[in-house]
Amino acid sequence: MICPLCNNRAKQVLTQELRKNEKQNVHYCEHCDLGFLAEERTEEELKTYYQRQYRKEYKPNLDQEVNLEGLFRGYVDFQQERIRFLKPYCDKTKKLLEVGCSAGMFLFHAKKYVGEVVGIDYDSRSAHFASQKCSCPVFDADIEETGLREQSFDIICMFQLLEHIKNPCEFLKKYSKYLKPKGILCLEVPNLYDSLVYAYNLPHHHKFYFHRAHRLYFTAKSLASLMRKANCKGEIYFTQDYNILNHMHWISVDAPQSDCVPGLSLPSLPLRDNLGSDKKDELNSFIKRMDYEYKEILKKLGITSNLFFIGTRA
Ligand SMILES: [Zn+2]
Repeated sequence: MICPLCNNRAKQVLTQELRKNEKQNVHYCEHCDLGFLAEERTEEELKTYYQRQYRKEYKPNLDQEVNLEGLFRGYVDFQQERIRFLKPYCDKTKKLLEVGCSAGMFLFHAKKYVGEVVGIDYDSRSAHFASQKCSCPVFDADIEETGLREQSFDIICMFQLLEHIKNPCEFLKKYSKYLKPKGILCLEVPNLYDSLVYAYNLPHHHKFYFHRAHRLYFTAKSLASLMRKANCKGEIYFTQDYNILNHMHWISVDAPQSDCVPGLSLPSLPLRDNLGSDKKDELNSFIKRMDYEYKEILKKLGITSNLFFIGTRA
């Protein structure tokens, strides 16, 4: 199978089993340190898939039907890390575009820090919802069909998007044309070396992690090489979203928590209401310290859930 990044033949297969018991090879290019799915669907078929099917298949609460309000509420409180990276580049003169903005969870916060925000999401319902929620324009089309002007944005963000894209290099080149000279490009992708995949032996998690919507599995090395090819210059950081209790849950039962919120929040212990506040404080402060230290270790080892790039067009 030909690697989408270097065009060499990839000889290894990471897995043949995906989420929902689907069978497909995840190939691995040793040269790039990149995992990838063979994809026969055309760009047009993929676009239809994201417009009609994707949100029904992948949702934050595994037990319930997806609704955009639920999706928004599930993730809106967990945008601090992204904001923290971007804040130094924000002020009220700046114009920000988020590509793949989903229900608008990030734009909702971003608009407090910049003068103007714009979103793009192929899913028309999400685009409409985000536009209402954030009172800003959100397009459900490719950027070339939106009428937006090239070199008109100070910041362009793509969170958890590139792993879905068939040709990420072409995609980055096309979208970065809409950045002003010295504009900031900021993106986040899942890390193939996520500790739950790389460090722990969790067969069910392994099947859960690889899924059909994610065609690319980046590592710091493959992401750096993609960014170089796309003429972007910047730094890559390791960031961890899920907390230590979520990982302990996976480690104990090798199954996901039914709801994403407790795993993405600061860890909280199921303490009795009538427990004295000194005891509560001490236990809560212990678990928060553990969580902080655990996340620092994952960062040091490069085995966090996500990779975060921030930089400019070279
Ligand atoms: Zn390669």
